[in-house]
Amino acid sequence: MTPHVIIVGGGFGGLSAARHLRGADVRVTLIDKRNYHLFRPMLYQVATGLLSADEISGPLRSILSHQRNVDVLLDEVTGISPNQRRVHLKHRDLAYDFLILATGIQYNYFGHDDWRGFAPGLESLDDADVIRTKVLLAFEWAEALAAAHQGQIEEIRRLLTFALVGAGTVGVEMASTLAEMSHMALARDFRHIDPRTARILLYEAAPRVLPTYPEELSRKAQRHLESLGVEVLTNARVTNVDADGIVVGGQKIPAGTVLWGAGVVASPAALWVGAETDKFGKVMVDPDLSVRDHPEIFVIGDTAHVVAPARNLFGIKSPEPMLLPGVAQPAIQEGKYVAEIIRRRVAGRERPKPFWYWDKGDLAIVGRTYAVADLRFIRFAGLAAWFVWASVHIYFLIGFANRLFVLLQWGFDFLTKRRRVRVLTEESPASENVIDPAA
Ligand SMILES: Cc1cc2nc3c(=O)[nH]c(=O)nc-3n(C[C@H](O)[C@H](O)[C@H](O)COP(=O)(O)OP(=O)(O)OC[C@H]3O[C@@H](n4cnc5c(N)ncnc54)[C@H](O)[C@@H]3O)c2cc1C
Repeated sequence: MTPHVIIVGGGFGGLSAARHLRGADVRVTLIDKRNYHLFRPMLYQVATGLLSADEISGPLRSILSHQRNVDVLLDEVTGISPNQRRVHLKHRDLAYDFLILATGIQYNYFGHDDWRGFAPGLESLDDADVIRTKVLLAFEWAEALAAAHQGQIEEIRRLLTFALVGAGTVGVEMASTLAEMSHMALARDFRHIDPRTARILLYEAAPRVLPTYPEELSRKAQRHLESLGVEVLTNARVTNVDADGIVVGGQKIPAGTVLWGAGVVASPAALWVGAETDKFGKVMVDPDLSVRDHPEIFVIGDTAHVVAPARNLFGIKSPEPMLLPGVAQPAIQEGKYVAEIIRRRVAGRERPKPFWYWDKGDLAIVGRTYAVADLRFIRFAGLAAWFVWASVHIYFLIGFANRLFVLLQWGFDFLTKRRRVRVLTEESPASENVIDPAA
């Protein structure tokens, strides 16, 4: 019997594992609750109307269509019976010989799941759509109020206040893009409001933005955010969120749009396999990325807590093992590594050396032409870092047509300062606050 490998999750980790099992003597079933692979690093561009969904995503089925040993299944995993080696899906069960869990993370509302409805996080294409609609509607409703001459200055101010909770890479990307959108792309489109008066507030509980980056890069990123008109508030913990805004340090801040990027928690993979976790719910894995007492189950990517030896871009080994960050590269490299382990086990060959991480550094974009880069041996910020960011991200986009198109799109945006994807596709409710004086 050909061994059956089940991969749960078609994100960076799961897709990398599936691809590296190409030609191996195994049957692979890749299960995902969504039918697409998503290039998350550019998701904020969909949320802010620069790119459309299909430019940064592709159907898993077609990405893997040339790989004959892979079956793609659109379904949601609800549990696992590790001792019976069975995966439970919404509508059926499947048996496996090897299991790779790559189910990613969810946003953490720190026990306040009711905030999710008021403050969406950016995780999927659906979220990007919700956020884009929310942002566009805020401007539309403010315009409608101003046009109705009701003098509701406070409500217009509230609608044009955008509060972002969490100044990690996603918060910084979103804040800078929203600032540029309101100052450039939308500036001339309204008759009764001035979109340039929109306030973009970025709250961070830690003392600085991009807390995982070196301090000098955090400082530069903050200065650039402020130059774009973003109000950065550090050491500021949000203690409540509701339909009218947020509470920070006991003070109510009225805001029409609140976006969440404050923390993450791993998917429930650890609960499924009864594994030990860290405080974020990530599975503590062995040096070969398997789960203790279950050498046939591997956990990779954002949902795994991996401490591994690392080498920098030039292959120089760091003295201490590092805790791998929740970004795409560890997930991709871990996927490749577990595929190699499975290949070797099936072929009866010796196991590979424990996993080590090739650390290419961190990049964060802060607006249209500015980024910060920490390549470990060198740190820099500005346009040069933006070029590195753009090249890396274009290179990793799935499919040549997308790459070329996105490049052209960016060029166009750079020259015209416009945002293309601004159509609201559904009939949207009018603001309840607008009373037509003529009625
Ligand atoms: C907005 C945003 C911006 C980012 N920007 C960057 C960046 O610039 N650079 C960078 O390196 N990283 C970035 N990241 C982080 C990066 O996207 C993640 O580290 C990476 O996606 C992790 O890969 P993964 O395979 O572990 O999980 P994911 O890519 O999240 O994939 C998990 C997959 O599992 C599926 N899944 C989950 N639960 C189930 C279930 N129960 N049943 C079936 N399927 C399930 C999901 O549908 C998803 O397809 C960003 C993340 C976000 C959210």
